[in-house]
Amino acid sequence: MNENSSQTQNATFEAANKPRVAIVGGGPGGYAAAFLAADLGMQVTLIDPEANPGGVCLYRGCIPSKALLHVAKLIEESQQAKNWGIDFPSPRIDLARLRTWKEGVVKKLTGGLGVLSKQRHVQYMQGRAAFENSTTLRIAKADSTETVLSFDRVIIATGSRPAILPALKIDSTRLMDSTGALNLEDIPARLLVVGGGYIGLEIGSVYAALGTRVTVVEMLPGLLPGADRDLVLPLHKRLEKMFEAILLNTTVSALKEEGAGIRAAFDRSGNNPAAKDDNREGVFDRVLVSVGRKPNSEIPGLEKTQVQVSRRGFIEVNKQLQTADPSIYAIGDVVGEPMLAHKAMHEGRVAAEAIAGHKVAFEPSAIPAVVFTDPEVAWCGLTEDQAEKENREIKVAKFPWAASGRAVTLDRPEGSTKLIIDPQTERVLGVGIVGTGAGELIAEGVLAIEMAALARDVAMTIHPHPTLSETVMESAEVFFGTSTDIFRPRR
Ligand code: FAD
Ligand code: NAD
Repeated sequence: MNENSSQTQNATFEAANKPRVAIVGGGPGGYAAAFLAADLGMQVTLIDPEANPGGVCLYRGCIPSKALLHVAKLIEESQQAKNWGIDFPSPRIDLARLRTWKEGVVKKLTGGLGVLSKQRHVQYMQGRAAFENSTTLRIAKADSTETVLSFDRVIIATGSRPAILPALKIDSTRLMDSTGALNLEDIPARLLVVGGGYIGLEIGSVYAALGTRVTVVEMLPGLLPGADRDLVLPLHKRLEKMFEAILLNTTVSALKEEGAGIRAAFDRSGNNPAAKDDNREGVFDRVLVSVGRKPNSEIPGLEKTQVQVSRRGFIEVNKQLQTADPSIYAIGDVVGEPMLAHKAMHEGRVAAEAIAGHKVAFEPSAIPAVVFTDPEVAWCGLTEDQAEKENREIKVAKFPWAASGRAVTLDRPEGSTKLIIDPQTERVLGVGIVGTGAGELIAEGVLAIEMAALARDVAMTIHPHPTLSETVMESAEVFFGTSTDIFRPRR
């Protein structure tokens, strides 16, 4: 990413009568854009239906799910402690209190964003915006009044919503999307999760830790389709123990409410017909559908602007996040994959700078992906799968955590760290990690890629001992055949 935030430019902007910028949607993309635009001297209005900024990520996504995953990890670790001579009794779960705690976390963080808006003099409007034309918005406010306001620039940051499968759309309170599942109304005895991606595995892990028997149905041959298979394998093995069943190459052909549950029929035609197959249907107390998300690009009045929307429903933008309508920018989930909060935030900041006239572009070399399961799976930059598809020559240097002192002290030796390296230049092109805390470790990989680090740079950087971060350094040493903790001479 190229940033040119010279103070001279800011000063010019302030002098130029404070341009008025509206941001539609107060998620991570929207509030990051709003805050930077205000810092750069613009007059900012941020519009969102909630009482405070936060969007999907804070109200019904990243934050509540991670609060619950923290609890799940604690429960799992307390059970694992048996192996270390510490025997805790089974946990008694006070669901109301757990819910209150999770909601408290959300309230604290969204309230904090409300305070930050005020401190920056961002005008926060609780309501929904529609376009009158490229620069005029009609805002239906939460207090049932309406206002029409004009701006110099508008940033669309309306995010995304859960995708639904029409064939599975039945009228039942037992059928949930991620929002419903995070509400944690009860601990169902049996939960069916449709879709073995980020949400299915994260929320499935929470319910499994709370005592639910979880079945995951995934239509593809493996869980987490975007990740390299060797990274997914240790997670798959652990989830096989936690979950009642993981059904791959499988879809749900029908759902029907009956008695105290939902009967699901599975289509397992993707499986080898000769394989043992006794999982063709089941009755579940609840069903979570987590098969991806759809962009919120059906904004009323958008047709009155020149904004272009792709066939998949994403708003089309250039590297400055500007749409085909010169007054309108768009950021976050509504402009495309990966639908991740940190991608939305960076796009928001680039859009604010672009409006300020700075010479910027959103062109990251690596966007990290983290699946917050246990173990966590994290990757950035080039993956092995991608290299294979693109026919790119690469070298993979992998360090197994069984050789990491820190991993062994944690009794979590199943992880691994790998670097994907250009054999000619020895540049680090990609990093993949599976293991406890992988999500915290991947940032070093992102920095290495963004800084065009060579494997030698990573190997020569002194990492603290004993930490899991050493596995990044040691995987670079593996590349040279000189890792201290494993004997793997270079071939
Ligand atoms: P959003 O956060 O979707 O916000 C858009 C906002 O715009 C919403 O508040 C919406 O109500 C509002 N809006 C829509 N239309 C209008 C309108 N017409 N007028 C005014 N306001 C409007 N990502 C991660 O990086 N890490 C995670 O751990 C993670 N966990 C997740 C867990 C779950 C269960 C889910 C569902 C998602 C998770 N994500 C995670 C994805 C992340 O939440 C999104 O990528 C991120 O929120 C996108 O930010 P955004 O600003 O584009 O939009
Ligand atoms: P996903 O794309 O991660 O996973 C959906 C899964 O459902 C895929 O594996 C897909 O093959 C499968 N699928 C699709 N149709 C199916 C069908 N008919 N039957 C069975 N399986 C089917 O989507 P998600 O889990 O809904 O999450 C949505 C997005 O939200 C993610 O892609 C990610 O961008 C974001 N998110 C991120 C995090 C994180 O960063 N930790 C956490 C949650 C969500």
